[in-house]
Amino acid sequence: MIRISNMNKWYGQFHVLKDINLNVRKGEKIVICGPSGSGKSTMIRCINRLEEFQQGALQVNGIEMIDDIKNIEAIRKDVGMVFQHFNLFPHLTILENLTLGQVWVQKKPKAEAEALAMKYLERVKIANQANKYPGQLSGGQQQRVAIARSLCMAPQIMLFDEPTSALDPEMVKEVLDVMVELAEEGMTMLCVTHEMGFAKKVADRVIFMDAGEIVEENTPDEFFGNPQTDRLQLFLSQVL
Ligand code: ADP
Ligand code: MG
Repeated sequence: MIRISNMNKWYGQFHVLKDINLNVRKGEKIVICGPSGSGKSTMIRCINRLEEFQQGALQVNGIEMIDDIKNIEAIRKDVGMVFQHFNLFPHLTILENLTLGQVWVQKKPKAEAEALAMKYLERVKIANQANKYPGQLSGGQQQRVAIARSLCMAPQIMLFDEPTSALDPEMVKEVLDVMVELAEEGMTMLCVTHEMGFAKKVADRVIFMDAGEIVEENTPDEFFGNPQTDRLQLFLSQVL
């Protein structure tokens, strides 16, 4: 589903991604962790072209990421993204947040879009809030809305960038539960998160990034139980 080959990216003089290689198969769940500033967000944002890279190659679901709007749009159709700060439209209701893309991007009739929106709102256990505005919901509820909104666009791959790190502790579980369900249904997922319980439960592979490089990559058992590099040992001692 995703092939990243020798990807390099610079912000001006700053070399932020260094020779990144990563292949993700259909249905695989990858957890990415690493210190702040190591390039995790930059890497996953390259996958749907929220960021550009200067060297290397990227293929998503067989489509080459090149500087052509047709390819970029085709890739974005397949890729959903959930951010740390939800990014809901504050002036639209929850239901309108979920139908906007379906109606304007996918050109669906409103009634059909609303039916699908309600289906996903039920799945994330929040259908009774459909007519409220984002500001009237808790952080955990808003993040579940953001996940449902993404699913309405029928993505084949979901990218999560620290989806629980802006939440109060008591709300983390309700969001992780939704992510675990999605994983169990077979979604291809890349999740930047330091939630080690989640990683152990669903990840096929855990990746450690540091200073723009993939330093280590392993099954969760080996990754946490038998870290190979000093850098990962130090990181784990700080976060666990
Ligand atoms: P992470 O998600 O692992 O915390 P990021 O990918 O956000 O790391 O950032 C990696 C590095 O790139 C950091 O040093 C950050 O300051 C820098 N950076 C991120 N975005 C930009 C930008 N738009 N312009 C310049 N530097 C940036
Ligand atoms: Mg980040």
